[in-house]
Amino acid sequence: MQVVRPAGLAEALALLAAHGADARPLAGATDVMVRVKEGQWQVPLWLDIRRLPELNELKISDDGATVTIGAAVPYGRMLREPMLAAHAPLLCQTVRTIGAAQIQAMGTLGGNLGTASPAGDALAALNALEAEVQLLSAADGERWIGVERYVTGPGRTVRRPDELIGAVRFATQPPEESSLWQKLGPRGAQAISIVSLAIRLRREDGGRVTFARFAFGAVGPTVLRARRCEAAITAVGAPDEVMLRSVGQLAWREVAPISDIRATAEYRQQMAAALLTRGLLHLLGGQRDG
Ligand SMILES: Cc1cc2nc3c(=O)[nH]c(=O)nc-3n(C[C@H](O)[C@H](O)[C@H](O)COP(=O)(O)OP(=O)(O)OC[C@H]3O[C@@H](n4cnc5c(N)ncnc54)[C@H](O)[C@@H]3O)c2cc1C
Repeated sequence: MQVVRPAGLAEALALLAAHGADARPLAGATDVMVRVKEGQWQVPLWLDIRRLPELNELKISDDGATVTIGAAVPYGRMLREPMLAAHAPLLCQTVRTIGAAQIQAMGTLGGNLGTASPAGDALAALNALEAEVQLLSAADGERWIGVERYVTGPGRTVRRPDELIGAVRFATQPPEESSLWQKLGPRGAQAISIVSLAIRLRREDGGRVTFARFAFGAVGPTVLRARRCEAAITAVGAPDEVMLRSVGQLAWREVAPISDIRATAEYRQQMAAALLTRGLLHLLGGQRDG
């Protein structure tokens, strides 16, 4: 495997355009090294894009409404950034559970989006945040696409071989919003999620839920938004415990898991409902967790 470090963004894009599917970007290499070793990804030319300044920006817009994170910003740097802790607590909570310190020192959002695993943890949080992905190419300059449309299947995305993921952007979470990241795996760290769930909620003073975003990981071919559950919880007045449990149970029908070596489809369905119920009980009303 040949690795080259382009001198700048223009050179990286030119190399991708010239080599097509024979060249691929490499960021933290935490997925690349595993897949190359297992013989799954045989790519003649890897482009080390970690140090490209354009892919290492981390900023909030002047009006405080939008956060932009470069595709090559390592998770560890994100976790040290007070602005993200204040304005994107869901993503910070999620990133803290990705691998352990070594993976967080190297891994990136661009890599999580590049691999596009249905169990990609950052992908689930970005989905709940309704983030957009920036795709850069020599031919077209830039285009932005919603993260839900960006991933089309397990490991499949709309990214063309000549395109580089430049950044992700999303609206900041307002202070009145509550959010929660939950991940069920065989161990506390260094394990692929069996089921994961990102929750965002906003409530009126009276307790009615006005905004809900639920994004499940590892229970379908891509990260899945539980839109029926979101609609159910925003359709009623202040939800009581019975209502919260029934919304949680609806998740059964929202997810489409498969059985694999980590868990059966039925177990994943049960756990999806359990995680949503538990999360709702935790965030709304202080009832004891499900
Ligand atoms: C021990 C271990 C534990 C892990 N734990 C977790 C976990 O808990 N949760 C989780 O979600 N993942 C986990 N992972 C997977 C991995 O760490 C993450 O997916 C990480 O985000 C990958 O980022 P990276 O920068 O290392 O990607 P890389 O390995 O460099 O790249 C991955 C893919 O993305 C592409 N890519 C990278 N950057 C770009 C770009 N800018 N534009 C276009 N394509 C790009 C590459 O070509 C490649 O196809 C784990 C991996 C290991 C080895």
